[in-house]
Amino acid sequence: MMDKIQYSPDEAAPASESVIEAAGVSKTYVGGDGKPLHILHNVDLSVGRGQLVAVMGQSGSGKSTLLHLLGGLDSPTTGVVRIGGVALSDRSDAQIAAIRNRNIGFVFQFHHLLQEFSALENVILPMRIAGKRRDEAEKRARQLLERLGLGERLTHRPGELSGGEQQRAAVARALAVSPRVVLADEPSGNLDQENGEILHDLLAEVVRESGVSMVVVTHNSGLADRADLVYQLVKGNLQKP
Ligand code: ADP
Ligand code: MG
Repeated sequence: MMDKIQYSPDEAAPASESVIEAAGVSKTYVGGDGKPLHILHNVDLSVGRGQLVAVMGQSGSGKSTLLHLLGGLDSPTTGVVRIGGVALSDRSDAQIAAIRNRNIGFVFQFHHLLQEFSALENVILPMRIAGKRRDEAEKRARQLLERLGLGERLTHRPGELSGGEQQRAAVARALAVSPRVVLADEPSGNLDQENGEILHDLLAEVVRESGVSMVVVTHNSGLADRADLVYQLVKGNLQKP
């Protein structure tokens, strides 16, 4: 078998530590007509180390908005998001980007892999950007892709992979830089039932064996069955499990 994959930068950190936290978070957009659109209302969410948290909700309930706020891709109207205990409020965009790059891996509904690169190169790239040596980055990329069942697909470009394989490559890419937390936005939303199940099993296994934390927003109850905590987002109100 392959070496144990080192996933997370702080495997020794106490499980009680909150890796990502939203406190009193609200989000209001101003619509095209100038009227405010209240999307999230006073959301409190705390994710511990090694937890798999599912946030379920209908289309338009604010799931993607919440995930973007948790990942520092957007800022809340009120309240605070903390990543690894560090509040994102009052930080510059560059500081938030640095916190994000060190701590967060994203998986989106559509894989966003670079089409002209192989699966292997797509997973190597974020590690190279983070300053990892080429040989080390390649070794880790191979391990992650093998773990996600893509050992025979390393040199395939995204267009030569099935939808399920593309999403698994996107998960490998998200894990590449050893994030504390992976934020996944309807990762199986574009897959058939069987490939969705395979992806959900792999996501849950990666969380169990690695200590990485994961927040998955989904309207698929199959993933919720595998989660430690399941929240419901109803019209911007996060209902506690
Ligand atoms: P979900 O991911 O649960 O389907 P979203 O978080 O994408 O929901 O969107 C929630 C609501 O916020 C929707 O009604 C959407 O139209 C609105 N919304 C999302 N982004 C913006 C934006 N940038 N400006 C204005 N309204 C937005
Ligand atoms: Mg969405």
